[in-house]
Amino acid sequence: MSDDAQRWKDKYLSSLEQQEKLERRWESRLDLLRRGLVRSSLAAEGADKAVDQCMQEMREILRRDDMDAALGGLIPRLEKAVLDSEQRRQQRAGEAATALAGLIEQLQRLQPPREVRKALKSLGKQLQDATSHQYLLPALLSQLSNLQGQALTVLQTPVQEQPGLLQRLFGSRGESSEEAASPSPAPTEPVSEPESAAGTESAAQAPAVAAPASQAQAVAAAPSAQRQASDAAALLDSLPLPPGLVPQKHAGDSPFSLPSSEPGYSAVAPHIANSLRSLLDELELPARHQPQGDALRQRLEGNLNWYELVPVLDDLAVLVLAVTDSGQREFAGYLKQLNERLAAFIDTLSEAHEGYTASVESTRSFNQQLRDQVSDLQSSVQEAADLEALKQALEQRLEGLLQSVSAHQRQRDSNEDDVAERLQGLVKRVAEMEREAQQFRQHIEEQRQKSLLDPLTGLPNRAAWSERLDLEVARRQRYGGQLLMAVLDIDHFKRINDGYGHLAGDRVLKIIAGELHKRLRKTDFIARFGGEEFVLLIPATPLEGGVQLLETLRAAVEACPFHFKGEPVTITLSAGIAEFRNGEATEVTFERADQALYRAKGAGRNRVEQA
Ligand code: GH3
Ligand code: MG
Ligand code: MG
Repeated sequence: MSDDAQRWKDKYLSSLEQQEKLERRWESRLDLLRRGLVRSSLAAEGADKAVDQCMQEMREILRRDDMDAALGGLIPRLEKAVLDSEQRRQQRAGEAATALAGLIEQLQRLQPPREVRKALKSLGKQLQDATSHQYLLPALLSQLSNLQGQALTVLQTPVQEQPGLLQRLFGSRGESSEEAASPSPAPTEPVSEPESAAGTESAAQAPAVAAPASQAQAVAAAPSAQRQASDAAALLDSLPLPPGLVPQKHAGDSPFSLPSSEPGYSAVAPHIANSLRSLLDELELPARHQPQGDALRQRLEGNLNWYELVPVLDDLAVLVLAVTDSGQREFAGYLKQLNERLAAFIDTLSEAHEGYTASVESTRSFNQQLRDQVSDLQSSVQEAADLEALKQALEQRLEGLLQSVSAHQRQRDSNEDDVAERLQGLVKRVAEMEREAQQFRQHIEEQRQKSLLDPLTGLPNRAAWSERLDLEVARRQRYGGQLLMAVLDIDHFKRINDGYGHLAGDRVLKIIAGELHKRLRKTDFIARFGGEEFVLLIPATPLEGGVQLLETLRAAVEACPFHFKGEPVTITLSAGIAEFRNGEATEVTFERADQALYRAKGAGRNRVEQA
């Protein structure tokens, strides 16, 4: 065989080998694909009859050697069946959501307690998302069943056994309310979409699948939302503010995208950074913590993102603790100083006492001396034989007497000077101590007052409310008289946030707080109970008078000339009011006022209802 022929033969053999390899690979892939398809078709079975039928056919075709033509005929049919099935699935999900919404409404009609009502309301909102994300349904169903249990249990429990106000304020309220009602907490480590995980809604409500689209929408909506937010702020800026309720200016207001759920983290980040900055500004940092404070302020100036938030909060917590610690140390130092001063004070007093004892002693010995000298004089007079001797004896004795008197006088003068000096010192020290104590008292009172105010509205906060509530109730128990309690809640406040942004929402809260506050008597008490809710204590007023007052407040808020982009925006509130009854626990009065508020909401909002 020639060289050429040999070359061709080698080439042919190697190609053949290559070809066989390729065929084996192809076969194994085809096998994998077949098995995959069969498994998938088995997994998909049961969702829909038509799809099941197609799947079964597919499995049969896959078992045959020649499947190309058969698959070609089957795939278009399968596509159609899947599309139809998807449509039917959507419809069923909608029906399930509607049925669940109906169930929630029925439970709401039972007028369960406030926490359950709120949780139900939040659940209702989540149901809307569940229509497009059915995997949420089981979690929602389990929540609903839980809430239903709570609603029914509470209905069976006598009112007196409901949890105490304090417990509801600080304990179980948070656990059983909206937060607890969310299906799952936000993941600690957001994977694909930190923004949705950081929102107030849970991760389940803002599924990662929808993230790219919603992000794109957010980007597209940003300029107009920014305009909206700044318009709202500009407009709301034009409104008169009540004295003492001057709004804080927020640097770098954020654009607000308007998703169906809560906005993403980037939308609220500047707001959070702002609040943290104000908190940091409020802290009176001890000198050695100043550099940490400055570093933290710098971090807050930058664009705070979700990942940085937790470490920033941790560092801030350290600083807050440092401030508390330094305050305590300062106070301990003051007490120590006071102790030392008091010890010195007691020393001086005992010295003064010793001085006094010594002076009493010296007076006594002086008296003795005088008496002795006078008695000597007496015997000298008796013993004197002639006038000359008498004269001499008298002169001698009188000289001695005069010396004793002037020595005693000198001694007494010096003692008195000593005591006067000591007393002067004491008076000065007491004045100094009083001044310091006064400063401390003032400082402590300032801190106390600060801790009782809500920073956003300038109104008393919940802690202040509890204090005042106890006071008014005690006063009523002692002196009798009428006392009313009212709960006010801004209507559809979420829409304001969603429509105009949180900054505008905050502004509305401040303005309304001012409007309410300025219409109250000095003896009335208003506090921000939380969110968009306010509570009122109205002493010495009959129920009709209280209703009238609330009517005035309601009308005043309705008449506030809020506007947005030239369009008027009407904001209203609803209120419930109850009268304190003898022997009734405050929690029960609150619950009655709250139920009345709930009725006002149910009856169309922007109204006042009495318990
Ligand atoms: P309703 O008429 O039934 O009371 O509806 P609503 O929307 O007012 O009630 P809901 O409780 O659903 O919403 C209250 C909203 O108030 C939700 C929360 O985001 C918002 N909110 C709570 N606190 C603040 C705040 O300090 N600032 C702003 N901007 N919004 C707040
Ligand atoms: Mg509310
Ligand atoms: Mg409200």
